[in-house]
Amino acid sequence: MTPLWSWAPAYLLWAAALQVSAGEPALTRFEFVQPHMGTRFRMVVYAPDAATASRASDAAFERIARLDDTMTDYRPSSELMSLCRRAGGPPLPVSEDLFQVLAKSQELAERTNGAFDVTVGPVVRLWRRARRQHEMPAPEELARARELVGHEKLRLDPRARTAQLLQRGMLLDLGGIAKGYAADRALMVLKKRGITSALVAAGGDIAVSAPPPGREGWRIGIAPLESPDKPPTRFLLLHDAAVSTSGEAEQYVELAGKRYSHIVDPRTGVGVVGHASVTIVAPDATTSDGMATAVSVLGPERALELVRSTPGAAALIIQATDQGPRTFELNLLLYAASGN
Ligand code: ADP
Ligand code: MG
Repeated sequence: MTPLWSWAPAYLLWAAALQVSAGEPALTRFEFVQPHMGTRFRMVVYAPDAATASRASDAAFERIARLDDTMTDYRPSSELMSLCRRAGGPPLPVSEDLFQVLAKSQELAERTNGAFDVTVGPVVRLWRRARRQHEMPAPEELARARELVGHEKLRLDPRARTAQLLQRGMLLDLGGIAKGYAADRALMVLKKRGITSALVAAGGDIAVSAPPPGREGWRIGIAPLESPDKPPTRFLLLHDAAVSTSGEAEQYVELAGKRYSHIVDPRTGVGVVGHASVTIVAPDATTSDGMATAVSVLGPERALELVRSTPGAAALIIQATDQGPRTFELNLLLYAASGN
């Protein structure tokens, strides 16, 4: 005769199968944080158990760490920097990830007339130093750096998957788009491991997949312009989408009474002046990250044109003026959470 206890596993299996067939496996919320790419990456995942959640998030963080190795301009060992060392030489084969980010960057450079431009590296370096030393970059140095900037000096060949930097001394900087790309790829890793409802935040760049169980979307707050540490005043409700915020006070230098952002206008070589926060919603975080940087350069009027011509995009731009904050928005109501 079969002892009674041997029934237990079978019964449990049956119960689990029932739950799945009802379409609602019990999912729990898990949260993980790791530092990468000079910022904090936060993951929120809904998973059946802690082991599944931590295995999946480990794999996603690992993917992010590898992308950092590939795309950082802070370490000479990165694939990006070895490409830059060969600037002025022939086309070079690059990895799938690097190619994808460069291709996205070039597309955005063309759409923004070079307001977004990853060849801006030599100019960004000068401004990083200006920030450290509290001293305006010297005009002749800026002029030299600007000669090395221009998206038309970066050639991509999708068939051969090569990249070529036409001038010696050119330097690529993916700081305006790499975090968004990493958030997108992390979300894909989670999906492959069966986690369909997740949020990946790379500092101010956030990508989300399906809504948390029983919800309509992920509720995401937008911090107020003047006091980013205060609770958000507006909320978005997103799923299968992304949102990026740029220019949020953290990185700028004040010289001779003017405030220069770490985002520079590639066409003038000067850090964007003034104080504004830009929030962009887009179908993926590569797009929202790049667009938020571009919009900071373009200014509200031209920026809204860019947003209007991007399917699924919305924008909130808040500029500080002498008369107080000025707000521009487009399509935002499509994503507004109720109870704002
Ligand atoms: P963060 O989230 O770090 O504030 P952003 O996404 O706004 O960053 O991008 C800012 C970074 O992008 C700068 O630190 C620099 O590395 C790079 N960058 C600055 N200006 C431009 C530009 N016009 N086009 C592309 N990248 C830029
Ligand atoms: Mg950006």
